[in-house]
Amino acid sequence: MSLSLDNTQIAFAYKSTAELKRARFLFTVIQSPIIVSLATKLTPALMNSGLPVNGLIRSTIFNQFVGGETLEETARVAKQLGAYGVQVILDYGVEAKEGEENFDNVTEKIMEALAFAATQNNIPFVSIKLTGIASLQLLETLNEAPRLRSGIHDSEIEDAAWERVKERMYAICDLAAEKGVGILLDAEETWIQDPIDRLAIELMAEYNKEKVVVYNTYQLYRNDRYHFLQLSYKIAKEKNFKLGAKLVRGAYMEKERLRAKEQGVASPIHLDKEATDKDFDDAAAFCIQNKENISFILASHNEQSNLKIAQLMIEKGISAGDPHVHFSQLYGMSDPISFNMAKEGYNVSKYLPFGPIKDVIPYLMRRAEENSSVNGQTSRELLFIRQELARRKAKK
Ligand SMILES: Cc1cc2nc3c(=O)[nH]c(=O)nc-3n(C[C@H](O)[C@H](O)[C@H](O)COP(=O)(O)OP(=O)(O)OC[C@H]3O[C@@H](n4cnc5c(N)ncnc54)[C@H](O)[C@@H]3O)c2cc1C
Repeated sequence: MSLSLDNTQIAFAYKSTAELKRARFLFTVIQSPIIVSLATKLTPALMNSGLPVNGLIRSTIFNQFVGGETLEETARVAKQLGAYGVQVILDYGVEAKEGEENFDNVTEKIMEALAFAATQNNIPFVSIKLTGIASLQLLETLNEAPRLRSGIHDSEIEDAAWERVKERMYAICDLAAEKGVGILLDAEETWIQDPIDRLAIELMAEYNKEKVVVYNTYQLYRNDRYHFLQLSYKIAKEKNFKLGAKLVRGAYMEKERLRAKEQGVASPIHLDKEATDKDFDDAAAFCIQNKENISFILASHNEQSNLKIAQLMIEKGISAGDPHVHFSQLYGMSDPISFNMAKEGYNVSKYLPFGPIKDVIPYLMRRAEENSSVNGQTSRELLFIRQELARRKAKK
């Protein structure tokens, strides 16, 4: 296969040398688990203390991983990516702010993002976390409901709150369908995921009749998710709609394991990385196999997983730009995968969050954690950045 993911000249053509040096500094600093652990604990308090930390955060971790505080700022980044054939998944990065008024505000922001995406030629998707528009407590209760009462839920207050969540989602999906923009529903923790999945299936049945508007997310680090993907496909066939699937490994492994341990129940997460990798690659192959009725997004920074699917596409005679197959990485990470694949004509996007600095802190802290040396991603990022800086220096 001719596809290679290690050309750093292609990967970083959009970054100036000064920007690359800043990225090198950032990834070097967050390599330290101690610094990351301290930053995760202290940053929220520092933000509330009135100390002038905004500027520091903005010029470092925020600029690396976030498109901007507003849609206008983010538009500039989206355009820049578009110049290299890279698409964008727009994400209003505010997480889990409780209260109906906040949920309505987030809904409004998502609708604005949708309207904006429709005016751009490289923003095919907007992503949503249901915890941005629904109460965590409500989702936890509903998660238990089917187990407790065979799916019959009997609290009027909760039913009314859930109705409001659904109204928000239907309004969002109506606009998405009208504007021709895809909606990606993020996957979250297992203790709130059931209602998200049920709503996703309901919305897909409503909006995915002819083409895929709504995508659910499948976390393949869960030992039941490959089965659930197959089940979702079966339901889609029975109910005559097309399945939208975003495949990820999963972002909450430590939290999930800790909670299972505390509750004395079996962990929902695979026992080892190999098992996660196998399910992830098998799930992607399953989507390829059934691509006439599944549109899917391979959301991963794992070179091997991306290469495997690209190879499978070649073997099956599927063109690189097939509209049913999409690849995605987070903005600020794995540029060698995104930009090299885009150059070869694959559909590739960057997941690009935007929002006020104080509100995207949880997202930033997750990026810092996954890039600390415990998880190994930073060494990959640093290696490529250093390689590119060396290449540019040698050329002078
Ligand atoms: C575009 C995009 C959208 C995303 N959306 C979501 C989302 O909606 N929900 C969500 O949860 N995450 C989401 N993520 C994050 C994703 O789940 C992963 O955390 C992240 O991408 C790292 O996995 P990887 O495939 O890139 O790389 P890799 O480095 O190959 O895999 C790391 C991942 O493997 C798994 N893993 C590591 N060690 C073990 C072990 N010992 N046992 C079992 N499994 C292990 C974990 O999931 C870990 O995150 C998204 C990622 C991208 C790129």
